[in-house]
Amino acid sequence: MSTTAPPAASPLPATGASAARAPGSRLRHWLPPLLAGLLLLVTAAGVLWLNWRGEVSHRMEVQVADTLWVKQSLEFQLRHHEETLRELATGWRQGRVGPTEFAAKARSMLATNHELVRIALYDGDGQAVAIEETRALDAGAIETELSTYARRRGSELYAGPNDIGGQQLLTLAVPAVGKREGTLVLEASLDGLLQEVVPWWFARNNEVALANSFGDPLAVRRATSPARGNYRHQTPLEMPGVALTLVTDSTEDTPRLLPSLMSASVVGLSLTLLASLVLLWRDNTRRADAERRLSEQLSFRQAMDNSLMTGLRARDLSGRVTYVNPAFCKMVGYAPEELLGRSWPMPYHDPERDRVSRARFAQVLDGTLPASEFESVFVHRDGRRVHVLIHEAPLIDARGRRTGWMSSVHDITERRRVEELSRQQQEKLQATARLVTMGEVASTLSHELNQPLSAITAYATGCLNLVPEDEGDGEFSLRSTLEKIQRQAARAGQIIRSVHDFVRRREPAKTRCRIEEVIDATLPLVQMQARKLGIAVETRIAAELPTIDADPVMLEQVLLNLARNAMEAMAPMPAPRRKLEIAAEPRDAGIELAVVDHGPGIAPADAERLFTPFFSTKAEGMGMGLNICRTAIEFHRGRIWHEATAGGGTTFRFTLQP
Ligand code: ADP
Repeated sequence: MSTTAPPAASPLPATGASAARAPGSRLRHWLPPLLAGLLLLVTAAGVLWLNWRGEVSHRMEVQVADTLWVKQSLEFQLRHHEETLRELATGWRQGRVGPTEFAAKARSMLATNHELVRIALYDGDGQAVAIEETRALDAGAIETELSTYARRRGSELYAGPNDIGGQQLLTLAVPAVGKREGTLVLEASLDGLLQEVVPWWFARNNEVALANSFGDPLAVRRATSPARGNYRHQTPLEMPGVALTLVTDSTEDTPRLLPSLMSASVVGLSLTLLASLVLLWRDNTRRADAERRLSEQLSFRQAMDNSLMTGLRARDLSGRVTYVNPAFCKMVGYAPEELLGRSWPMPYHDPERDRVSRARFAQVLDGTLPASEFESVFVHRDGRRVHVLIHEAPLIDARGRRTGWMSSVHDITERRRVEELSRQQQEKLQATARLVTMGEVASTLSHELNQPLSAITAYATGCLNLVPEDEGDGEFSLRSTLEKIQRQAARAGQIIRSVHDFVRRREPAKTRCRIEEVIDATLPLVQMQARKLGIAVETRIAAELPTIDADPVMLEQVLLNLARNAMEAMAPMPAPRRKLEIAAEPRDAGIELAVVDHGPGIAPADAERLFTPFFSTKAEGMGMGLNICRTAIEFHRGRIWHEATAGGGTTFRFTLQP
């Protein structure tokens, strides 16, 4: 049975909540965007790295090109000096240049080229002819030696660099070979070379050094800031006789990984995407968790609702039903859809309680219904009346406003039935007590009446003896009257004895007895009632019946009970059916007795409860008779049952062991 959400009460879904998504399916759901995000991030990182690498190698190429440019400038400067010296050498050889011309030229060279510190002219014997220098230098020996080598070689030759006067000096010798021999020697300072030749725009951002073949720097021109070693290049200078290396080292840093706005925005975008994915994931996980908790709570509430024995019904302020639980539906036999949205009178309304019910509904409408318990009656769909105990409580919403009424309904029909049964049993017990007292009275009465009856019989016999034999035998003769008195007194005595025997309290005592005698002893009491109800009594006793070991008084009680029930059942029947039969016949070495009536028979619904104590369909019935009969028969190891009499009525049968 499904339930519907009460708008005022805590909401319940009309159908079961969807189950929380499994972790596997959640992962599958998230995998594509996650992979796309990661791919984007990797691509962005790759693009940035390639970009960075490109920039670094481009910068390195620039460094190499600049270094080569500086190298060429240095070499060009030295070639230029070589050329000038060669011109002078040619002039010297041809005699056009004498010491004076040389000195003038040398001075002009020293003045315009600050890297040059000394220019000397040696004759063919290695004697200095003229020397021009910016300051006095002790370079004679080196120059003489180099001159010799240069003349021998027949071409210009470099030497050094040598530390002369605290300076690293490069020596160049250009020989003049011919009519007048000699050598022109030039000393150039390495520091000066770097200062003069390396352009300022390069020197500003690069440390430029000249190093020997071991890599030791001999002259360094420092930049405005320290070199970093990121862009460093070295290249040998091409000079005959000297191995010098030009080393450049930039002060620049390597480019940053995120140099451009675009790269930054790509990274930013990727990070934002990833962050939003993570946030979305977390949000989704939280949502799934909440969904799972909600679904668990709902299942729990559903289970609770289904197992609840108390009926619940919610009504809004206009008295319309907004919620009913399964227990309530079961109580009244209607489905929720038949009740929801309906107002007074409801389908289970009891017309007999119209006035009370209408007054209570009016209280619901004007909100004056007291929050207390009261009893009422619902009519189940199958017509059954259901006694209920209702507790009404106001429904308050989250803002503290009253939005309707919630009733909890308990089915107290069973409780009421038990109470009624107990009341009836109480009454029956009281009736039993009265009957017991009556039995006591009957016992005393029969005992007391026995003597006068015996006296009457004795006196009648005495009188008979006194009456002469021939007194006459007319109907109203003394003798016949006395004989009738005697017979009636004897019969009364017999009845009294039967009553006495029947009601006398005693322990069960088995003796060997004959069933015919038991039946005979019962008959007077049976016939007494039979006459009153106009019922014919018939006995059918088989000839050869075994004697039995039994308590005759108990058996009489059984027979009397069965006969009385049979006669009461037949009382309302038409005269031809009012016939009671008591039969006895042998059965399996024992005896089977039958009490047969032609009454209305026993309804199948009552059949199985017949022997239950206090079960009776009669207004004054005790419901103990058949129960006592069964106890008595079982005491005799027999069995008692009933069956329908052919042609209508009931036959009670019981067996007795020999
Ligand atoms: P009581 O006679 O006080 O009602 P019993 O135990 O003797 O109690 O009988 C129980 C019920 O069995 C009776 O109320 C009656 O409805 C049913 N009953 C017993 N005997 C017969 C019968 N012969 N025919 C129809 N109903 C019978």
